Amino acid sequence: MFLQMFTLVCVLIALQYIYYQIKWRLGFAMMSTTREKVLSGTVSGFMAIILSFYAIETQFDITFGLGITALLICLVYSGRVSFIIGAVMFGIWIYALPYHSLIFPIETYIWVGILFIIIETLYKGSRVELKGLSSLVVLAFFFFLHIYWISGEIPFAVSTTALYLTLTTVSLLTGIGIIRYQQEFVKNVRLLSTQATHDGLTGLLNRRSFDEVIKQVDTTKESALLMLDIDHFKSINDTYGHPAGDAVLKATADALKKTCTVKETIARVGGEEFAVMVRDADLNGAVEMAERVRAAIESLKVKVDDDIITLTTSIGVATYPSQVKSIADLYRLADEHLYIAKKLGRNQVCCERKQSSVIVE
Ligand code: GH3
Ligand code: MG
Ligand code: MG
Repeated sequence: MFLQMFTLVCVLIALQYIYYQIKWRLGFAMMSTTREKVLSGTVSGFMAIILSFYAIETQFDITFGLGITALLICLVYSGRVSFIIGAVMFGIWIYALPYHSLIFPIETYIWVGILFIIIETLYKGSRVELKGLSSLVVLAFFFFLHIYWISGEIPFAVSTTALYLTLTTVSLLTGIGIIRYQQEFVKNVRLLSTQATHDGLTGLLNRRSFDEVIKQVDTTKESALLMLDIDHFKSINDTYGHPAGDAVLKATADALKKTCTVKETIARVGGEEFAVMVRDADLNGAVEMAERVRAAIESLKVKVDDDIITLTTSIGVATYPSQVKSIADLYRLADEHLYIAKKLGRNQVCCERKQSSVIVE
């Protein structure tokens, strides 16, 4: 008996492992969107069928319930939609079998399914272990009735139910453990990849990922780069404090997001420096865009405690291929134009070198 139980637990854990590996490979480990829920339900349905198929080969009565365990895990983790999809698949398969051994009318099974859903709803927001184990108690009671109905012997029904309950509890907790681990893993991977590509303060792309964006720009079309630098930002920090400076940076990033469209890529490329890649735009279009950005930032009023901070930016614009021969040179020229804008008195857009003749060093 012990050996048989041990084998069954091993088979179940191995199947669950394969099951979550499949889900993981299919990329729906978080189970939050409708697509993920439908896929999760379908995989759980198949899982239940595979488990009960194994059950038919061995001991139907004990292992039939293992299929339902797969659906239970699906219910507590993926929710009702997935559970209903999996349960319908499993139900059709079991019912269609020529040698199926449903001893109760089909409605009984439907009612048990509804009971599971009610438990899941009642425990919404609670720990998944609680939901799962409460559903298992219902399942064990149903299982007890099932065995008693067949054998007519209470001691046999009790011992078989105890064995069944042990098996399903172990497999349920294992399944939940595997899901917990995978969800944590997916969350960390997503968090790390966001941290590696985005700036933590403003949520914009960082310099490294902006460089990648620039490399992938379509060189058959005209493109422009805007380099922005907040004017006298140091004095904002010095006057109002570093946190106020951070608030100004965030407000600038928000203004950029509002002013630019999805066609533009915005990044924070330095302390108080931002860059905007404008696709499919000639010099006039890019300067217009830069002028809009400059005006939007000039009209900002950043409220920090009792202070209202205003700011201005200088912007350098460079275009490819009219001004530079390679995309890599865009940075250099836009920076040069930004430097000229600063020298000309700040709060302005500069897009050509000839303006530099007025600079007095
Ligand atoms: P300019 O008009 O010539 O650009 O003058 P500036 O004061 O804006 O330029 P400068 O390069 O002298 O100063 C930039 C300052 O930005 C210095 C640095 O302490 C500050 N800074 C850089 N990163 C951050 C940040 O994340 N938060 C805050 N609050 N300040 C930052
Ligand atoms: Mg600077
Ligand atoms: Mg500055």
